[in-house]
Amino acid sequence: MTRVLRNYVGGEFVDGASSFEKISPVDGGAVATVHEADAVVVDAAVAAARAALNGPWGRSTVAQRAALLRRIAGRIEERFEDLLAAEVADTGKPIAQARKLDIARAAQNFRSFADTIAAEGLDSYLTDTADGGRALNYAVGKPLGVVAVIVPWNLPLLLLTWKVAPAIGCGNAVVVKPSEETPSSATLLAEIMAEAGVPDGVYNVVHGFGTGSAGELLTTHHDIDGVTFTGESRTGSSIMKAVAPWVRPVSFELGGKNAALVFDDADLDRTVEGLGRSIFTNTGQVCLCTERVYVQRGVFDEVVARLAKLAAEFRPGLPDDPLTTMGPLISQAHRAKVLSYLSLATRQGAECVAGGGIPDMPSALSEGAWIEPTLWTGLDNATAVMREEIFGPVAGLVPFDTEQEAIRLANDTKYGLAAAVWTRDLDRGHRVAQRMNVGMAWVNAWYLRDLRSPFGGVGLSGVGREGGRHSMRFYTSPTNVCVRIAGGGDD
Ligand code: NAD
Repeated sequence: MTRVLRNYVGGEFVDGASSFEKISPVDGGAVATVHEADAVVVDAAVAAARAALNGPWGRSTVAQRAALLRRIAGRIEERFEDLLAAEVADTGKPIAQARKLDIARAAQNFRSFADTIAAEGLDSYLTDTADGGRALNYAVGKPLGVVAVIVPWNLPLLLLTWKVAPAIGCGNAVVVKPSEETPSSATLLAEIMAEAGVPDGVYNVVHGFGTGSAGELLTTHHDIDGVTFTGESRTGSSIMKAVAPWVRPVSFELGGKNAALVFDDADLDRTVEGLGRSIFTNTGQVCLCTERVYVQRGVFDEVVARLAKLAAEFRPGLPDDPLTTMGPLISQAHRAKVLSYLSLATRQGAECVAGGGIPDMPSALSEGAWIEPTLWTGLDNATAVMREEIFGPVAGLVPFDTEQEAIRLANDTKYGLAAAVWTRDLDRGHRVAQRMNVGMAWVNAWYLRDLRSPFGGVGLSGVGREGGRHSMRFYTSPTNVCVRIAGGGDD
């Protein structure tokens, strides 16, 4: 029997007018029946959030909210196995990965933002006035209000909590729209919120799709105060248009076409291991994943050979099999998209050096969205596969000769999310990393994060930054109070 997932509005689970099936990417079986939110449910969720803001929640203190975030983190840890099962059922990712990466980070997100909000001081300035007096300015950091949180399917709970934790920490009320592909963990989080003592209406969930469904109903709603969104660049563009009539602020974490730059002095053991993680983690379905690898000519053949060997060693399989090192893509539709790029690459003259198609799987898994880790050479930046985000375990490798050329090739993209520089020359590491037109650049690393540091991208990769105090800028709406203090006379 499949599970039934409902919307969560004002502290109650509510039905939608219709429902849809969530399908497993592992074997094509049904995972859950999901109640889709129509306009009535979305209206009710926004109204519940507004009501919460107008009630005691709107007068809650930073100390109370920091304590609440810590309770949520604790409760996530207590229900770790439930969240793990929900996330794995929706995505098919290996349990070991979800345990280490996805669910653990959800708790860290709440703890990290509890620390950030608790440490935040009053923003104040003392100004001299023309008559010899002074003026005291202080900014009261109010919540932004009702925040729409729209998230994708690739790291569902991690990305959801990355936004919900600071939003609630800053005193907002949220209406969350998880991806139609991964509705489970956001629903479970509703139970956790209630158990941790989050007041009714502060966390609401509406299920459904984007255009013509809950996503669009939410972003076009007149009574939301801002949208924080993670997903495709094209969707970000649609949401920007949707909020334009009411001029609402947005924070967008969008797609990428991230480059790795490998110089001939790099430690090749570390580099190939790092490249392998950056290309293939989560079956290549991380916005930060590398899809373009530029390698200095002297080590090009060796890097290609070593990376191809590493790609061939991945083992697709069931999430709970300890030998599984790669899960499926999220859906058959997404696999069709990735495969269409691979066939385009072949037609344009790519030489496939690893993978390239669908792996042989046992018949019980034949309806799953499996794909081989794939690498090619022979295509330059003019081709679609080197310009467009594919979002699978795939990358093209291209040789370069000079540092200038490597920088030019890496920056030759409309995206600007992340880049990784691999070199033993730290001067060069800093120099090249600083010249990357991206939000985040690594030197001899990938995915390493301090949750207080700014996260986001430029160009098609996003608007704004989140993380630590950068998140607080988006989730608060300060009112500046300026008090004139008259001059003190002659004494
Ligand atoms: P998507 O844009 O298709 O969907 C994301 C969410 O938006 C889903 O919940 C979807 O239902 C909703 N949505 C779709 N159309 C909408 C509309 N018109 N109005 C309102 N909501 C709408 O993205 P996806 O396929 O779920 O996720 C993969 C994408 O996310 C990739 O491009 C990836 O790079 C990006 N991503 C970016 C980051 C980052 O931090 N920069 C992190 C993870 C994923």
